[in-house]
Amino acid sequence: MVFSVFEIVNLFLDELTEFKRDVLEFLRQPLEDGYVTISRARQSVMFPAQFTLVASTNPCACGYYGDTIAQCTCSPRQREQYWAKLSGPLMDRIDLQVAVNRLKPEEITQQPTGESSATVRERVQQARDYASSRFNNAVNLSCNAQMQSRDLHKWCKLDDSSRNLLEGAIRKLGLSARASDRILKVARTIADLAGDDELKTNHVAEAIQYRTIDRMQ
Ligand SMILES: [Zn+2]
Repeated sequence: MVFSVFEIVNLFLDELTEFKRDVLEFLRQPLEDGYVTISRARQSVMFPAQFTLVASTNPCACGYYGDTIAQCTCSPRQREQYWAKLSGPLMDRIDLQVAVNRLKPEEITQQPTGESSATVRERVQQARDYASSRFNNAVNLSCNAQMQSRDLHKWCKLDDSSRNLLEGAIRKLGLSARASDRILKVARTIADLAGDDELKTNHVAEAIQYRTIDRMQ
């Protein structure tokens, strides 16, 4: 399939841990910068590579770690090896890490009662418009993901309570500066979804909750 260079696409990787580690590591540059550099003997060429990465993986090799019914048969060492393919720097770049639990029987058989995708889309668009109006005069800024560190100081000011919460998470989870910045961007988006100008403790707390895999390790 051929995509226009200006088109933003979604990349879905199922069974993330089944990919070779060097293939996964290659994702780091486009995830961070939105382009890839291809180098050959005489020249180096940059191509635009903006995409939304969605990935899924089992929690361990047998697939049952954390399951409410079946028992995981992997040893701690096997689980460690399983996750070793996903490096810290790669996981730093995945903003929302969510554990998806086994569905209950009634959830499988009954009609879904959640919101429609159209309703969610409307809410997301409102939040993006909200962010976009905040960045009105800023160059190269149209959404929260594009914020650099200097932008975070301007748009993601923390009160003492929020700062203490984030510092505690950094210490407890061993988060890098990049992961901390990503938490702030997600918190800013949560605030935008709520229509809040100020970043509050509950926004930061929710953003930290989305570091599931950091919390598992
Ligand atoms: Zn297992």
